[in-house]
Parts: sequence; structure tokens; C-alpha cells
Amino acid sequence: MAGLLAFTVAGTASAQVPLASLERACKNIGQRLASVDTEYCINAGLKLGDGASHRGMPFLYRDYLPGSSRRTPYRVMLIGGIHGDELSSVSIVFQWMQKLEKERLQPFHWRVVPASNPDGLLSRPSSRTNARGVDLNRNFPTPDWKNTAQKYWIEKTRRDPRRNPGPGPMSEPESRWLTQQIAEFRPDAIVSVHAPFGILDFDGPLHPPQRFGYLRLQPLGVYPGSLGNYSGVNKGLPTITLELPHAGIMPTFDQSQRVWADMLTWLEKHLPNADAPLFQRLDATPWTLGDAINPMTDHLIQARN
Ligand SMILES: [Zn+2]
Repeated sequence: MAGLLAFTVAGTASAQVPLASLERACKNIGQRLASVDTEYCINAGLKLGDGASHRGMPFLYRDYLPGSSRRTPYRVMLIGGIHGDELSSVSIVFQWMQKLEKERLQPFHWRVVPASNPDGLLSRPSSRTNARGVDLNRNFPTPDWKNTAQKYWIEKTRRDPRRNPGPGPMSEPESRWLTQQIAEFRPDAIVSVHAPFGILDFDGPLHPPQRFGYLRLQPLGVYPGSLGNYSGVNKGLPTITLELPHAGIMPTFDQSQRVWADMLTWLEKHLPNADAPLFQRLDATPWTLGDAINPMTDHLIQARN
């Protein structure tokens, strides 16, 4: 955590408080994404995280509690739209939020961040990078970032502006916020949605899943500053990257449901076999959801069992 704080202090100046309300953010998202209903977004129980994007957009997130009596349910963080021009990756997370709303018996504690790069999403046209032209998925504080990220960008991508890792690790408010969320929520697994490669990738300590619905395993490689590198390789957290096949076209409802169902089945089967992520092994403080578990769904689980 000391390292995290040091990075936070060293971060560049950015909006500290959101300049837009939940309603304004949802209106903008609803106007950009045909498949996201503005009213649904406003009423979906989303909260505003601390801080804001470079342009002052709020970081929206929501927790979904498990319908299980397990005292320490596994925690999964679901992230959409790190790349702002991968519109389907935001839309599908909103769709899965509606599913989580109804699936009272699912066993995980979810933290869902549907649009993690709001400035990129809402730019005209939408951009992969954030408002400062930084690829957030190259800006996470992987070890040796300072020696590798810029060098990789300059030598391997020939300064591709879509892959600019930024001036330093966590130089961007969006990647700082996500990193803080990971530190605070302490997930047991992370799912990050992208497009358009139409595959499934995995970083972390477990044997990777072979397929979720129509997405089959195909490793994309590990990059300095990527989320998979940071959370999967460095923190030992199973990190699933879903690459939808089209950035601008949603999967069919059946395709989306199948990916979701296979992913839940895999998480349920494999998370109990995973070592605790590094930050949990270093921090033995127990945590529980305690009284936050819904007693009614607990009752349902017990009745079913
Ligand atoms: Zn992407």
C-alpha cells in the first residue's frame, strides 16, 4: 500500500471531484450507446467513486452481494470500457448488471465498473485512450514500468498514439482509481471486457479457462503496464480478459448469456482452488460481509439446500 500511496501523491493534477452528476453521466452514456437505457443507468444503483476522470466525469460503480450464506464470498471485479472506443465492452457490462439484479442466488460479491474510461467513451469520436491520450491498459504500475513501458512503446509500437503508456505508472486519474479499487475491494478475480478480437485471455495463477460461450482461449501476450500484467502476473489474481468480436456490435442475447453462464461456472469451480492474491497473503486482516448479506436470500439458499 505504501507504493500505491506514493504513486497517488506523485500523480498529475486532475479533477478531484466529479463535475457531472450521475444523471448527466447516464444521459451522456445513454446517448453514446444505443443499448444502454438512460433511465436504467440512472436507476441502476450506481454510486460515484472518489475522484473523477480528467474531464471531471464520475467513476460509476456498483456492488452486488451474493445470495449465499457463505460468510466470506469470493469477490469478483467486473470492468468495462478501459478502452473507450470498445463500445460493446461497456454495453455488455450494463446488460450483465441487469442479470446480477435478477440472479439473487449467484455466489459472488461483485464490484462492477461499467465504464472505466468515461472520457474515452464520450469523446467524439470515442477513443481508445483517455482524454490525455494515454492507453490506460498500459498505465498500471507493473514492476519495472519505468524501464519497460516507454521503451516498449517507442521501440515496438513506434510510438503508436493508441498505445501511449503515459509519462509514469498510474499517471492517469482513471488508472489510479481502478488500482485503488483493486486495493480496497481486494477481489479474488478480475474480469475485464474488451473488443474486437473475439477471444478469451487469462493471466494469473490458475489453469486458464478454455472457452466461455463462443470466446475461446487465445493468449494475447503480456505488456508493460497492462491490467492483466499488473493484477494477474504481479498480484497473482486470476484475471480474465474477454475480447468481444466487435467493438460496435453487441453479441446476440444468447451469445452474451452463454459467455456469462460459462464464466460463472468456471469461477465457481476454480476460485476455491486459487491461492489468495498477493495483497491478501500480505494482509491477514479478515473481512466479512457480516450483516450486509440479505437474510431473505440466505433463507432461500438454505431452503434450496
Ligand atoms: Zn481493449
